[in-house]
Parts: sequence; C-alpha cells; structure tokens
Amino acid sequence: MSRQLFERACAAIPGGVNSPVRAFTSVGGTPRFMVSATGPWLTDADGNRYVDLISSWGPMILGHAHPAVVDAVRTAAGDGLSFGAPTPGEIELAEEIIGRVGPVEQVRLVNSGTEATMSAIRLARGITGRRVIVKFAGCYHGHVDALLAQAGSGVATLGLPTSPGVTGAQAADTVVLPYNDLEAVRAVFAERGSEIACVITEAAAGNMGAIPPRPGFNAGLLEVCHAHGALLVVDEVMTGFRVSPAGWFGLDGVAGDLYTFGKVMSGGLPAAAFGGSTALMSHLAPAGPVYQAGTLSGNPVAVAAGLATLRNATAEVYAALDANAARLGAVIGDALRAEGVPHHVQFAGNLLSVFFTDDEVHDYAAAQAAATWRFPAFFHALLERGVYAPPSAFEAWFVSAALDEDSWSAIEAAMPAAARAAATATAPAEAGQ
Ligand code: PLP
Repeated sequence: MSRQLFERACAAIPGGVNSPVRAFTSVGGTPRFMVSATGPWLTDADGNRYVDLISSWGPMILGHAHPAVVDAVRTAAGDGLSFGAPTPGEIELAEEIIGRVGPVEQVRLVNSGTEATMSAIRLARGITGRRVIVKFAGCYHGHVDALLAQAGSGVATLGLPTSPGVTGAQAADTVVLPYNDLEAVRAVFAERGSEIACVITEAAAGNMGAIPPRPGFNAGLLEVCHAHGALLVVDEVMTGFRVSPAGWFGLDGVAGDLYTFGKVMSGGLPAAAFGGSTALMSHLAPAGPVYQAGTLSGNPVAVAAGLATLRNATAEVYAALDANAARLGAVIGDALRAEGVPHHVQFAGNLLSVFFTDDEVHDYAAAQAAATWRFPAFFHALLERGVYAPPSAFEAWFVSAALDEDSWSAIEAAMPAAARAAATATAPAEAGQ
C-alpha cells in the first residue's frame, strides 16, 4: 500500500511529500504512509505498527492521541474552527508560555516555526535598523530565505549548500559561522559589529544531530551581541517545552532577547510563537511599526491542543522523557558496541542522536565527517523490525513519555540486528571496488 500511495503521491505532490525528509531520500526505500497513531505506536497503510522515535519531529511528548489533548481539540472544534478575532484561549496559551520562560514577557502566536523565526528576524532588524544576521552552519530555523544558508535538517540531509530561489541579496546579509565557535563570532563582530542586527542560534542544536552548546557558548553569544548593540534570538522550536518545562532556558538559564517556539506548544497542530520582553515585542504592529500578521494565527483548535499538551506535561512527563532518552541512548550504544561499530550517542537534554564516529561532535563539519553511510542500513533494519527512527543521520531522535514496556521490547529486539547492519554497511569508496 505505501508503495502504491507513494507512486500516486509523486504524481500529485513534488517528490511525493510535503516536507523533504519524509521522502526517505538519504536512506532510500519507500516512505511509510501513516494512517493512525496512539501512544508510542504508529500504524501504516499496510497495517504495520512502529514504535515512534520521531514524535512528529518533536511535538508529541505525551504520545499520540493523548485523551486530554484529543478531548480539548474536539471541544474547541465543536465551538467553531476559526473566528478571525481574538479569543480567550490565545491569552491562556501566551500566559502559559510566559509563565514558563522567564525572559519572555509577551508572545505573538503564528502558524509554524518558520514563521516564528522569520518574524523574529524581521523584528530584530526593525528594532536595530541593521541588516546583517549571524547564523551557525548546521542549525536549521525553518525555510526562511535568509536562514537557509548551510542549514541543517532536510537541507543537510539532501546535501544542499543553500537553495535556488534565495537571492544573492538575502544570502549576502547572512553570515554563517561554525557552531560552538565563540572566537569566530567575536571576530565577525570585531569587523562588522555595527551592521549586525542579531545572532540566531538553536538553543541547543538538534538539526545536524543533537549537539549541545559548549559550556559558556550561549552566554558568550549574549555578551558579544550586547557589547555591539545586537540582539540574541534563541530558537527553541525544537527544545522548547521538551527538554524541560522551560525548554533549554530551564537548563542553562541564559536569557536571550527574542525566543522562537513551536512543536510541543502546538500539541501537534499548526501553531508556533515568538516572544521577548515587552519593550522589544511592543515594536510589533499594531503596538509598533514592525508588521506581522496571520489569518489563522492563534487558531482556537491549535491553541486548545497546545494548551492541553502543556497542561498535561507534568513533572512525571519530563522525568519520563529524560529517562526514556537515557534508556534509548544506552540501548543504541550497547548494541553498536557489541558489534564494534565506532559511534558516539550524543545528547542535548533529552534530544539524542547517534554519530558513527568515536569522537564527540561539536559542529556541522564534524557531523558531516562521521560515517553517515552506515545510517541507511541501520535505519532500515530498525524499520523492518517495527521501529521508526528519523530517516536521516542529521536528525535528532525524539522520545515521548508514552514509551511502554511493549515498545521497549520492540526497540530492544530490533537494535542488535540494526547494529549488525551498521557494522556490515559498505563505505561509498569501498562500494565500487
Ligand atoms: N527552528 C528549529 C530549531 C526547527 O527545528 C524547526 C523545524 O524543525 C524550525 C525552526 C521550523 O519549524 P517549522 O517546521 O514548524 O516551520
């Protein structure tokens, strides 16, 4: 069924998918078309079940179809799908976010993480009156023109430097530096500090695999930005409300100027947000002159899903996310060690990924230098055994709190064969011999 659906999809949708990594391009094979999901399990169109280790790329921390979230969505939908007018729920979601993330005093709700980062960049430029933005190689902030240069996620998966359609002018205003390299940041600011509107960074990198900031990196960024009158935009779309109740801010306490959020706060429906101090956010229309808007922004059904997710994300849920990430990392590591595969299971909070190299990975160059050619075999061995890992060596693995003993049995049963497949995979240079 998935094969037939993929053929049909390829005729109607470019590449058969609505977001590139879903197409399995870097691992080969046919993407599975999913028809339902509950708890930690996904079911495809052929009736196969998979333990989900992607969690819809982050949002589903409670697992799929959590009863409280589904109830909230049903109730909201019954009350009307969209009003194009303010609603009480939007205030509650904004207050929930503000209550968790200290430096955020106001938020504006949008529809995707891409919109959040695009708007935060516009706001930073509008406030500072400057053009240039600094980003890090391997960090992904959505498909915003100015932020696609050397991006992670699907751009890394497909090995693209940037994208046709992004003009020279947009790219020219973006300076790309190696992640975790504060000296490189200082050097650029020393030369061009008065032109730089902001630095945007993933709070902890998750789009070139999981790569935490080195101790002092985020604090150093803040210090350099402020010394030069620039703003620090902390992208917590992936880490926000997942790695702790307050996201990465809850782990490192570094107070950025502007924040972007998405994924968990949307409960799996399209919603995202950006925020910061009232002083900064009041530059936004209609309070201020920087324009930003959206027909469906603050959509009541999406808001209900996000609120229900955050309100059900108890201390026990966060403890389970951390424990599940640690257990998954151990299962992967044990299996690869048993097969003698060079690897490093790396964590950024409870995000994790496996790099096929002995060394710790601190930046995109090191992530690219790992033996990513082992990944397709590893991935497919898991998939065949009912474990759905991210279909790219450059994506983080996202656990949910819903993983139960059944799903652990499936993971633990599948991992030794996956490790063997990784061990016997052939490097591209050897393949032709
Ligand atoms: N920022 C980060 C850190 C992300 O990981 C992503 C998506 O994965 C985005 C922004 C873009 O979010 P969206 O896919 O909702 O546009």
